Amino acid sequence: MADALLIVDVQNDFTPPDGALAVPRGDEVIEPINALATSGSYELVVATRDWHPPDHSSFRSQGGPWPEHCVRDTHGAQLDSRLQRDAIDLVIDKGTSRDAPGYSAFESTRLLELLRDRGVDHVIVAGLATDFCVRHTALDALKEGLQISIQTAAVRGIDAEDSDRSLEELKGAGAEVI
Ligand SMILES: [Zn+2]
Repeated sequence: MADALLIVDVQNDFTPPDGALAVPRGDEVIEPINALATSGSYELVVATRDWHPPDHSSFRSQGGPWPEHCVRDTHGAQLDSRLQRDAIDLVIDKGTSRDAPGYSAFESTRLLELLRDRGVDHVIVAGLATDFCVRHTALDALKEGLQISIQTAAVRGIDAEDSDRSLEELKGAGAEVI
């Protein structure tokens, strides 16, 4: 069986200094993620993108909680250029339909099938943000019976307390947090 690295939403709109919904110190994940991605330890390195229609239901303009972010095909939705792109095998877009939040990389995507096809049973989840998309993605992976590891150096959250709670929740659900 095999390991995969899943890089969640390291996109221009989520990283300082210019992101529309920048995660505090979110750019600090880039170096550790690049080190993991180039380590040669993974059967598959997958990056996800939040990839919303312009009227996505999570936007404040539509009554949602967030400022407009990661609108499909815009600069803000592209992967942060500081990521080592050639180490990424595959990009998965999520949150593509107006009415679904799309926090989890497993929601309405072919990610699970791809991992199963490659014999992956252990996923290292990294990226942004700990308290939202990392949390939902890791919880869904655990529900599907995958082993999950999270390195705290390679994730950052929007709210510090919520992020700590999310990591505790993930540990309680069976994830390895190191
Ligand atoms: Zn979003």
